[in-house]
Amino acid sequence: MNAEIISIGTELLLGEVNDTNASYLASQLALLGANLRWITVVDDNMDRLVEVLGRAWKRSDLVLATGGLGPTQDDLTREAIAQMLNEDMKVSEPLLQNLKAMFAAMDRPMAATNSKQAALISSAQAIPNPRGTAPGWWVERDGRVAVAMPGPPAEMQRMWQREVMPRLQARIQGRVVMLRTLKCFGLSEAEAGETASQFGDWGNPSLGIYAGSDGVHLRMIARAASCDEAAEMIAGSEVRLRNMLATHIWGADDDTLEATVGKLLAERGLTLATMESCTGGLLGSMLTDVPGSSTYYRGGFVAYSDEAKVALGVDLRLIEQHGAVSSQTARAMADAACQGFGADIGLATTGVAGPDSVEDKLPGLAYIGISDRLGQNSVEGRYPPARLEVKRRVAIHALFVLRQRLLVH
Ligand code: AMP
Ligand code: MG
Repeated sequence: MNAEIISIGTELLLGEVNDTNASYLASQLALLGANLRWITVVDDNMDRLVEVLGRAWKRSDLVLATGGLGPTQDDLTREAIAQMLNEDMKVSEPLLQNLKAMFAAMDRPMAATNSKQAALISSAQAIPNPRGTAPGWWVERDGRVAVAMPGPPAEMQRMWQREVMPRLQARIQGRVVMLRTLKCFGLSEAEAGETASQFGDWGNPSLGIYAGSDGVHLRMIARAASCDEAAEMIAGSEVRLRNMLATHIWGADDDTLEATVGKLLAERGLTLATMESCTGGLLGSMLTDVPGSSTYYRGGFVAYSDEAKVALGVDLRLIEQHGAVSSQTARAMADAACQGFGADIGLATTGVAGPDSVEDKLPGLAYIGISDRLGQNSVEGRYPPARLEVKRRVAIHALFVLRQRLLVH
């Protein structure tokens, strides 16, 4: 089934509102096993709307439109579908009564313009919308389907989940689509792709490799006649990927690195403290995003200046000799965090976030220090030299370094 999404609203083309409806529906269509071919954004203009809808209706089996179902004169989706299919719009008496009852229940007068929200064409059925006044339209003709849903994301998502998706599922019975994403760190997209290609053909399950915010993601999509069959296909491919990329794979699907290290710390009964320079508290912030982190996270210092590092226990001579951005200082910071908080493990970051160089070191260079009963260690990292990106990547990398360390505890 070829599918197409049309996002309707002038505010979208002005950049005032992000088109989150399209990305939501795109991920939902992938789960359904439909092939999304096009996404179009169009403004509240009758001619352009009719043109875009007409093109979609000709080339796609399923058209999903959002927006333009409001009561005002710039909401034109119903009128445009009617014109495109050359059908007359008529107010449906039961829908109108329903709409009047809704306004009465809210104790609000109903404007005359609202009555167009009760209109239908002969190929359209109304889709209930308990979260708003605009019912959706399910349009079916010549084996094709177009669905018009309201623009507000909460209304649209509810309509999709409760009404539209179940009907579409019934139409594409017998096909199951299963997704599984493995999350890696410490290798590039190209390296991951090269490794995966050694397994030969990735037709079904297919494999998509892309850079996520927390490393490289390997996304498998299996299509099969039953859930069991799809799960078996995914499991087989996952075993092969895990065998090859073992140490790099740290999680799957909705896992986050901060929750992954939190679980490992809790399982091992270990406590953690941090001392951050270039990440400025971001690492501590991520660690405490996880519910229950107080059981293992003792606390953190943000030691941004050399003076602060020294006051918190880092030997000044180390900084003078090797620089604040050095493996030696990173290790000493991790150790000072450990001592300062009486924790089992200390984790530290120091680097050049940029845009200027520090100590003749270029932006994007950072060191992650770790200290525990096994000793002290540090890892050098080089990141794209954009300030916020460096901070984010160093924090993620530090969590990955901690994970690797926890695996040997
Ligand atoms: P509507 O009256 O149905 O055209 O939509 C009303 C509101 O829904 C707009 O003001 C937006 O805030 C929101 N909206 C419309 N389209 C989208 C979209 N594609 N993604 C996110 N929000 C949207
Ligand atoms: Mg609108």
